[in-house]
Amino acid sequence: MNLLIVILCIFGGSILLLFLPFKGAHSYTQPRPEKRIHEGDVVLSRRMLIPGSDAYKAYYQCRPEFRDADDRSRKTPGLLDRQSRFFHAETFAAAKANFELIDYMGALTHGSKSANLVTSELLTAEALKVNPNKTSRFISTWLKKTGAHSVGFTRLEDYHLYSHKGRGPHSGKPIIKKHEYAIALTVEMDHRMMQSSPRGSTVMESSEQYLQSGVLALKLAAWIRELGYEARAHIDGNYEVICPLVAMDAGLGTIGRMGLLMTPRLGPRIRISVVTTNMPVSCEDHKPDRTTLHFCQLCKKCARVCPSAAIPEGPREIIEGQERWQINSEKCYHFWTTSGTDCGMCMSACPFSHPDNPFHRFIRWGIKNNLFFRHLAVKLDDLFYGRKPAIKPLPDWTGIRER
Ligand code: SF4
Ligand code: SF4
Repeated sequence: MNLLIVILCIFGGSILLLFLPFKGAHSYTQPRPEKRIHEGDVVLSRRMLIPGSDAYKAYYQCRPEFRDADDRSRKTPGLLDRQSRFFHAETFAAAKANFELIDYMGALTHGSKSANLVTSELLTAEALKVNPNKTSRFISTWLKKTGAHSVGFTRLEDYHLYSHKGRGPHSGKPIIKKHEYAIALTVEMDHRMMQSSPRGSTVMESSEQYLQSGVLALKLAAWIRELGYEARAHIDGNYEVICPLVAMDAGLGTIGRMGLLMTPRLGPRIRISVVTTNMPVSCEDHKPDRTTLHFCQLCKKCARVCPSAAIPEGPREIIEGQERWQINSEKCYHFWTTSGTDCGMCMSACPFSHPDNPFHRFIRWGIKNNLFFRHLAVKLDDLFYGRKPAIKPLPDWTGIRER
């Protein structure tokens, strides 16, 4: 009888310990950059510089610290290259097809506001008078009905914008803040496709969701212009804003150890697009989620699985005056250009990337709610999914060649 009472007490105590609301993550604040980033400093932009060209010489004269790493990466086969380690004809061709479409879409990111509505009796001055709350609800519902996973609104801040363009014909041109508001949207990346990271299904799925999120952003920007306001879509290869920062301030997630936006229901398994505009939308203040950062502090799984050791395993460090993690983009990109895909092993292994089903929703609730549950969840994830989850073969349907 006494033993039974002791067992019941231990059981009851454990339940209380794990389920009482006790977040215990006060010190985990989310920093915002103090200065704007030049898009030309982003590793993808640097890789586009042609060796020997005037732009190449000028850039590395100013930033000699990047030259060796970039030149090393130039010797690798490159993204989606036939000689790359994970070359796979069907998935690579699908990714190339998606990126080709995305390239065409670049011309649609901006445009003039429509003159059609100017004569309408609904208009005041030149634009349709809108109620920010109702407009935001319309946008959110419309985008979710047509493929978005989440939608958020924020005031556009200076630090959301790159300081200068770093690619294409306008490279080097300063980016001026023209709009007051930003709308961020996310789309889900397929769980199974990402489980084969870093194989070809990763880059096929990334390109697919860059395309889908880009289509949503383009149609939203066109809709806003149709109502008589200015709008610019920020899509893959055509950004003036840093999407994860905008999405974070729009309340869609937190930026974790691997440097990606961690959303509450899909973790980093998303792609983001943004629309900036002068049309008034409803921007609420969002409570920062410190618990995800604390979970990242405990977890480290992305750092463990990263094949290029690009993700730091230690605690956050003070970088340019702010406490945060910073990945080594050069190492990460070098792996991409060797493997031919955009890898995604960190995203695939992250405990927040598991399918959004009732069981995982319960675990995520526990992680948010209780400090001790968070510790337990890290251990359980290692136990059930492995400390270094195995890479799955490509989904069967992706191989269409005759064997
Ligand atoms: S794998 Fe773990 S440490 Fe890395 S981002 Fe996900 S939760 Fe954070
Ligand atoms: S994408 Fe791959 S190489 Fe890059 S940080 Fe993630 S796991 Fe590492």
